[in-house]
Amino acid sequence: MGHMLSFDVEEYFQVEASSCGVRRDAWGGYERRLDGSIEKILSLLDEFKVTATFFVMGWVAQNEAEVVRRISRAGHEIASHGMDHRMVTKLRIQDFREQAVASKKILEDLCGQKVVGYRAPTFSIVRETMWALDVLAEAGYEYDSSVFPIWHDRYGVPDAPIAPYWACGPEGGRILEIPPLVWPVMGMNIPTGGGGYLRLLPVKVMEWAIRRAEKEGRSGMIYLHPWEFDTEQPGLPMNWMSRWRHRVNLCRTQKKLRYLLERFAFMAVREWRGSRN
Ligand SMILES: [Zn+2]
Repeated sequence: MGHMLSFDVEEYFQVEASSCGVRRDAWGGYERRLDGSIEKILSLLDEFKVTATFFVMGWVAQNEAEVVRRISRAGHEIASHGMDHRMVTKLRIQDFREQAVASKKILEDLCGQKVVGYRAPTFSIVRETMWALDVLAEAGYEYDSSVFPIWHDRYGVPDAPIAPYWACGPEGGRILEIPPLVWPVMGMNIPTGGGGYLRLLPVKVMEWAIRRAEKEGRSGMIYLHPWEFDTEQPGLPMNWMSRWRHRVNLCRTQKKLRYLLERFAFMAVREWRGSRN
């Protein structure tokens, strides 16, 4: 059974947790560190002959084009992570539409591959922003991976389906929704899809979650960020809780991903969809 592997391509200084202390107009002044992390990720994927989906920010495509081209040339799927990492919950519909259209075009022009996938910054397609699904469908996106079926202080739709499903926006726009992996335990969904959860939880928990999904005939979606492979990244102004979430077990990310790659079949969303047709 095939599972999906994805990376949200953004710099360490663009995460939501540091957005109070790091202004968008100051991004240009920070040390760029994507290159080294992408190198580590690409060589690990190459070792296992695995393709992945890279949800790339428009800002990254504009400012670090060569890194994005390298990902694409290595045979991976390029998808959109919006333009400037503003949460959908903080955008007006017309601004979201502009970002969805612009990032798609920038990435397609840069990589020469059709961009049909989208993931919102900080999984910010939630109950109040379901209109985003209509906008994405209208803009030519075929799938979305932004609705996290968990409870969280910043995002999540706790009762959303946990297997890939056809989602419908309030205006009737249909789009394939691919939720990050969760582990349903006693009526609650434990987030086991990746990111900080992968770093925090023992990797065995991820393994159990994937085995449980397989037993139920569900494909899992795993997500990670390049900065999670960068133990040397400079510290940023954040509150203690966010700093802990951002930095916990950075040194274990690569080992844990390797553990999963050794045990399960992963692929890009593009290949996963192709295998089901
Ligand atoms: Zn992001």
